[in-house]
Amino acid sequence: MSEKKNGNNLLIRFYDSLFERFGPQQWWPARTRFEVIVGAILTQNTNWGNVERAIRALKKSKALTPAKMFALPTVKLAELIRPSGYFNIKAKRLKNFLTYLYSVHGGSLNRLFAAKEGSELRMELLSINGIGPETADSILLYAGQKPEFVIDAYTRRILQRHGIVKEKSAYEELKRLFTAGLPRDVRLFNEYHALIVKTGSEYCLARRPKCESCPLEPFL
Ligand code: SF4
Repeated sequence: MSEKKNGNNLLIRFYDSLFERFGPQQWWPARTRFEVIVGAILTQNTNWGNVERAIRALKKSKALTPAKMFALPTVKLAELIRPSGYFNIKAKRLKNFLTYLYSVHGGSLNRLFAAKEGSELRMELLSINGIGPETADSILLYAGQKPEFVIDAYTRRILQRHGIVKEKSAYEELKRLFTAGLPRDVRLFNEYHALIVKTGSEYCLARRPKCESCPLEPFL
């Protein structure tokens, strides 16, 4: 890796440029920890607008608490979250999470997040069918306030286009770049991921990226 492409140094400069342009993003866009968790599962393979519609339907049916959702038949839950796509699969995933929450932590999010170190809890979350690394890290960072960096498709695309990682780099490899190169700070990880999402969704588009107006253009 050349000095210009030195990942750690570059990641700090990326952050400074993004924050200077966009300012604080106030993430995660949710009112409760459970809403964060539900959103993290529903956002798999869809855009945030569809997740918001599903969350609204859950709220309208007063199903957005662990107890209410756990009591809901899976078929009914799937119907409510239909706007998020893959709704049968996602209903099962939500139920898988809730089964874990009730069987291991008595249905308490306080107990879930207080019980274990971040890495141990991460292993537990990853053992739940349908919870992958991005979902687990989103839950840990944004609901649990644990310093786990979230890697998503935008992060991967931006790092690739700037020659920092290869196309097939593994999730954990990308995550290590951030966790090793930055202070392990929840607020920083929260803000950085949110800034990446803003950049990826508005500038670093899959087709026709808007490099000329992007804050990261000087680093190309
Ligand atoms: S839009 Fe261009 S400058 Fe911005 S992150 Fe993507 S590749 Fe980099």
